[in-house]
Amino acid sequence: MHDDHGRLSNFIGIMRDITDRKQADEKLHLAASVFTHAREGILITSADGKIIDVNETFTRITGYSREEALGKNPHILNSGRHDPDFYAAMWRDLVRDGHWYGEIWNRRKNGEIFAMMQTISAVRDAQGNTRQYVALFSDVTPLKEHEKQLEHIAHYDALTNLPNRVLLADRLHQAMAQAQRRGTPLATAYLDLDGFKTINDTFGHDAGDQLLMAVATRMKDVLREGDTLARLGGDEFVAVLLDLPDIQSSVPMLARLLDAAAHPVRIDKRDARVSASIGVAFYPQTEEVDADQLLRQADQAMYRAKLAGKNRYHIFDAEEDRSVRGHHEDLERIRGALNDNELLLHYQPKVNMRTGAIIGAEALVRWHHPQKGLLPPSVFLPVIENHPLASELGEWVIDSALAQVARWRRAGLDIPVSVNVGAHQLQQPEFVERLRGLLAAHPEIAPRHLELEVLETSALEDLAHACRVMEACAATGVAFALDDFGTGYSSLTYLKRLPVAQLKIDQSFVRDMLEDPDDMAILKGVLGLAVAFRRQVVAEGVETVAHGTKLLQLGCELAQGYGIARPMPAGDFVGWSASWRPDPAWQASPDMHGIGAMHGRQGELPFSAPPATAPAHS
Ligand code: C2E
Ligand code: MG
Ligand code: MG
Repeated sequence: MHDDHGRLSNFIGIMRDITDRKQADEKLHLAASVFTHAREGILITSADGKIIDVNETFTRITGYSREEALGKNPHILNSGRHDPDFYAAMWRDLVRDGHWYGEIWNRRKNGEIFAMMQTISAVRDAQGNTRQYVALFSDVTPLKEHEKQLEHIAHYDALTNLPNRVLLADRLHQAMAQAQRRGTPLATAYLDLDGFKTINDTFGHDAGDQLLMAVATRMKDVLREGDTLARLGGDEFVAVLLDLPDIQSSVPMLARLLDAAAHPVRIDKRDARVSASIGVAFYPQTEEVDADQLLRQADQAMYRAKLAGKNRYHIFDAEEDRSVRGHHEDLERIRGALNDNELLLHYQPKVNMRTGAIIGAEALVRWHHPQKGLLPPSVFLPVIENHPLASELGEWVIDSALAQVARWRRAGLDIPVSVNVGAHQLQQPEFVERLRGLLAAHPEIAPRHLELEVLETSALEDLAHACRVMEACAATGVAFALDDFGTGYSSLTYLKRLPVAQLKIDQSFVRDMLEDPDDMAILKGVLGLAVAFRRQVVAEGVETVAHGTKLLQLGCELAQGYGIARPMPAGDFVGWSASWRPDPAWQASPDMHGIGAMHGRQGELPFSAPPATAPAHS
């Protein structure tokens, strides 16, 4: 301060506390630095939606520089992937709640679409008026892609890239709903490759994979857009054929699928070839069915296609299925029958027609039903096919048959017994073990008194395994026959690979051979094969003397059939065997040294065991 003369007199100091301002500065500085360095993109707009600031990350993510963005509307980022409703809802939330959070697909400056996770907040003043909007976002495109990958893995088969079981279920549901709505049927085709196991075994698993991929691609190519081809796993596929004008119109498509599957695939300079068995079920049906049932029906039909010779399709017949189910006894009743001793065996002799020797007896199961009387196996065995009960029943049959052999022996009748074994039973992991156990329970019976007739050979999935089982059984002394030989598709393969002693020519050929030259030709062919492969042949279904005579002329001496004896209760067998004489016409027929005679005795058979008395390694 100055005095009157202008000289400095006093000093007055004023202090002001500016901590607040400093702190505010610091805060601003901090805010600015967050703004600049944030890993999130930040975009600030005025209340009317013009961009007033963006940060560096915004530029990095969107490709728009700050200068380019300022003054523009955030619409510049629109990808076109969201409809106006989406934006309307977003604005509604913003106005009402003051913030919005969610995922948006946007477009970068270079045109690329990207996904961002975004929070938008309204900045309001003391009066509650919105001054700005602040949007924070991050690029979640990589996350989205990962999500997509995971989804793909969950819904597609890794090897063939076809939809898997999960996605198939989904598509099938949709397709069924659509078929209902539009009134156009759909077909579910269950496909199983024939002979794929062999490819794996001979070419190796990599080659098997290659084949699966090639076949999958080809089959997919013959389907129409909108149809689905899915892989259930292994060599099983399902095709869903949509919008069929009528059921008949699926036939050309099925034919194309068969064709696509049967085309050879070049692997390691060799041609690998499989075929497909297809089972088809249509939807809708007269009765309501769900997707699972539909698949099961198609699977069942596929099995029929296999049994009928493979490389073909079989159409599930709902009508037939209902009537068959109506005739069949149910599983629990059959289990009860087994436990309550309602099952019994009848025996049908196998004989040498020329010499009159009884060479064995085939055990055939029957059910003495308390209400319905004596039921044939066709009424109840199909119900338990592929069910563990079938193996249980099978073991009961072997056990009972062995007990019967013992009883006959005590009565002075010394003959082997044949028991039928289904493919499924034979493929049980413990089959050989259990068979040994059953034999051990009847120590008085030599194993060669038991023969096993293998049924449904075409259902043998793993030939190598079946071979091992049969060899193990043969080593024990139990010999095998191929039942119903000549039916089914791969009989020759089985004949070559399986160690069987005996072929039973299917009764259909024998029955019709006198009228049908084709059946006669098959019969002659089978007899020729039997000689070439040194197998014993038994003709089934010899219904008349004339059949026997003709067979003898062809050189086949061993036979079974109503013309010799019908299956009979065990108690009748001894009496029958004492009185039976072959027809004089047969005895008169010259000894042809035929097939039967050539390999007539068990001990000479290629795969049967040595007599029980011989040392194990003679
Ligand atoms: P399969 O093993 O081929 O048995 C022969 C079938 O032909 C028997 O029918 C027998 O009664 C019948 N048969 C015999 N001679 C003649 C003839 O001259 N003319 C005609 N038309 N038929 C004749 P069955 O007893 O009804 O058995 C049918 C099938 O059921 C058997 O065919 C076999 O596949 C199966 N089977 C029977 N018992 C068992 C069993 O214990 N276990 C298993 N897994 N299957 C069995
Ligand atoms: Mg049989
Ligand atoms: Mg048979």
